[in-house]
Amino acid sequence: MTVAFLYNDIFRNSSFGKNHPVLPKRISNVYDFTKLINLRKKVDYVENKKANFKTLQLFHSFDYLEILKKTEKTQCISKDNARKYNLGTYSNPIFKQMFSRHATSTGALILATDLIKKKYKYVFSPGSGAHHAKQSMADGFCYLNDIAIAILVLKAKGYKKILYFDMDAHYGDGIIEYFKKNQEVCTISIHQENLWPKTGTYLYDSMHNTYNFPVSEGFNDSNFKKITDEIIFKIIKKFSPEVTLMQMGADCLKYDKMSKMELSNNSMSYIIKIMKSLSEKIIVMGGGGYNPWITIRAWTYNLATLAGETKSLKINKKAKDFLNNIKYKNIPKHDWINYIKDEPDIF
Ligand SMILES: [Zn+2]
Repeated sequence: MTVAFLYNDIFRNSSFGKNHPVLPKRISNVYDFTKLINLRKKVDYVENKKANFKTLQLFHSFDYLEILKKTEKTQCISKDNARKYNLGTYSNPIFKQMFSRHATSTGALILATDLIKKKYKYVFSPGSGAHHAKQSMADGFCYLNDIAIAILVLKAKGYKKILYFDMDAHYGDGIIEYFKKNQEVCTISIHQENLWPKTGTYLYDSMHNTYNFPVSEGFNDSNFKKITDEIIFKIIKKFSPEVTLMQMGADCLKYDKMSKMELSNNSMSYIIKIMKSLSEKIIVMGGGGYNPWITIRAWTYNLATLAGETKSLKINKKAKDFLNNIKYKNIPKHDWINYIKDEPDIF
């Protein structure tokens, strides 16, 4: 099955700043790397544009969007507005493409909502997944809530059963809190308990299709297999989604410094594989992910799983050189530059 990989070079040419946890090139790395390994035949690389202002207004307030756009242009903000809109902070700094980059992430998902109606069953958009952005403020490195906007667009297109699955270590508050009383949008989130934003306590609300699973530090593959096999797959089967959006933040994986969850990248592949049997149309996004090698390998593996090409996930010389050349403060472990799949694979 051919997968559409949505991308725009704004991800290569923009940065949150030198010391920000969102590493420069994390998205373009995935784009470049997947072209080096044997996925080309099963992946169409499609360039997407920015979402327009009107579409962004489906979720965000006009005044917030105006300030965000203006701040991008002037590169400064008043103290009052900085406080009101949570901009110009350590987490949500002012940078050159602060509006355009996030409008492009949103544009990818808007295009995805079209593509799944026409040519593709599966879409991959690693630059999307800003699950913390609120209607009138930025939050947790997220300025525009591309996911919430895409869900609203899907609803406008007539979809009545939309599943949002969030695997990021942090609770997807920006989407889940907004849709939590909306029966047509089923949300399932697995996240580390007591981690920022410190909400998302256990919830099993089958009336409104909202399910939160906070998990303990050290949450690993066998814990994941148990919760998915015994609970989550049953919920999805019952809901029977027409379309599914998956936020696959790689900060839930072992060796990501932002959480103490200890999943391997096989867990992500496992849930994508099962999801393909439960949902006809799937949009897989990125999200958090602060260890460059862990993130690039996991998201490449996710793409290969969507494409049904996990057997060809071999690292050749060019791919190995690519991983070796990623600059980061730590030195990569042997496995991170020689293999894509983590070992062992218990699934
Ligand atoms: Zn996260």
